[in-house]
Amino acid sequence: MRYHSTRDAKVSVNATEAILKGLSDDGGLFVPESIPKLPVPVEEFVGKSYRDTAFLIMKEFFTDMTEEELRACVNAAYDEKFDTPDIAPIRQADGDVYLELFHGKTIAFKDMALSILPHLMTTSAKKHGLTNEIVILTATSGDTGKAALAGFADVPGTRIIVFYPKDGVSRIQQLQMVTEKGKNTHVVGINGNFDDAQTGVKQIFNNKELAEKLGRKGFQFSSANSINIGRLIPQAAYYVYGYAEMRKQGIIKAGEEINIVVPTGNFGNILAASYAKRMGLPVGKLICASNQNKVLFDFFETGSYDRNRPFFLSSSPSMDILISSNLERLIRDIAGSDKKTKELMQRLSREGKYDITEEMGKKLSGFYAGYASEEETLHRIKELYETDHYVIDPHTAVASHVCRQYKDHTKDTAKCLIASTASPYKFPGSVIDAIAPGKKSEDPFEQVKLLKELSGVEIPKAVTELMDAEILHNALCEKEEMQKVVEDFLK
Ligand SMILES: *Cc1c(COP(=O)(O)O)cnc(C)c1O
Repeated sequence: MRYHSTRDAKVSVNATEAILKGLSDDGGLFVPESIPKLPVPVEEFVGKSYRDTAFLIMKEFFTDMTEEELRACVNAAYDEKFDTPDIAPIRQADGDVYLELFHGKTIAFKDMALSILPHLMTTSAKKHGLTNEIVILTATSGDTGKAALAGFADVPGTRIIVFYPKDGVSRIQQLQMVTEKGKNTHVVGINGNFDDAQTGVKQIFNNKELAEKLGRKGFQFSSANSINIGRLIPQAAYYVYGYAEMRKQGIIKAGEEINIVVPTGNFGNILAASYAKRMGLPVGKLICASNQNKVLFDFFETGSYDRNRPFFLSSSPSMDILISSNLERLIRDIAGSDKKTKELMQRLSREGKYDITEEMGKKLSGFYAGYASEEETLHRIKELYETDHYVIDPHTAVASHVCRQYKDHTKDTAKCLIASTASPYKFPGSVIDAIAPGKKSEDPFEQVKLLKELSGVEIPKAVTELMDAEILHNALCEKEEMQKVVEDFLK
């Protein structure tokens, strides 16, 4: 399997090269030359373990790894770090099925891919005879930082540096990062917002002189964010697993089509679902759910992508995004041309907007898009708590609301599989506002205790650990100092 740049079909690398590089030199994203079919009939996935499912899916894409190498990556990733042997259990509530993707170390779905990415990367490095230490640089608005830290902590041959906006993350998210114990980790708060952190990291990546200097010292930079195919492909596996679990539990019949609903920000998770569908999973609609930053809803509705609009801070912060990077991969597919894709992406960076042609729009009929306001999001959390005593987080609630909306509009009766992307314990304040308004304390750990009383769900270890964890990282810097911080850490 070869991988091409979305912006230049002549660029052609294998999977391990694409994983190591992250992004193509022309700024494009790597896409597989074709989407393989499922290696065995869907029915044969029923009853398979998560590990076996993940292995079978990834082996079709990462074809230049040996089966032993890939097995070792899968086994190292999906182990006791997860609080259930199912890894991604399903749960029925109010006629829908929730695929719980938050049972990993940092209780958000990013663990599903970031548990395996470090192993894919070190395996790729070994294959290419790289002796350099890989240095992961990440700017985070909250969830990615901790999931990347947890994934790369103490992985031999790697180091990781995370920059977060000092005043821009929740207290729980900050504690998760500054108490990280991995010996190869470095966490730094910056005086600035997420965009400043992101811009600083990009500047370091683009600094060729610095790369050469550090190269001589035995280091090379790489990226752990969701444009890396080493994050995208592992996500296709859980949709196949979720479908097989629905079969196993008798929720659907053999071959029955389902719809998949995904709370969407950077368009990575839903794109992975579309790959699973193209592999042959019986999926009808892919339902793209946005919060009030509804740039994707407007895109599907009008064919016009326009980031020039007000930006809202919502209760589902991991979806507060105006540039959905992974959409570029879908654009490449519907445009059928690298030149056209490049032109649209250049327009996006120049003018902040682009329009697709009518012909391209016709190829989007497999998608449905909707969005939830803040009020609708909290209302849906409350509703599900009252009908099923099931507590969901605000991101999942956005998806659940849009699922309702879809069924009302279309009268489609197919079963829906909703990606549940975070534990409610990650956002206890918003969840309490929804189910027990007025009862919220300002102390996040008091919120957690109240949520336990209200939901009866065990407090995850990821949260109890924080209660008496030692603060190990208190570095702060100005945004102009980020490069110096990196060089000092690598001395
Ligand atoms: C990152 C994230 C999302 C958005 O996923 P994308 O792949 O960026 O679309 C949704 N929910 C949670 C909890 C997240 O952390």
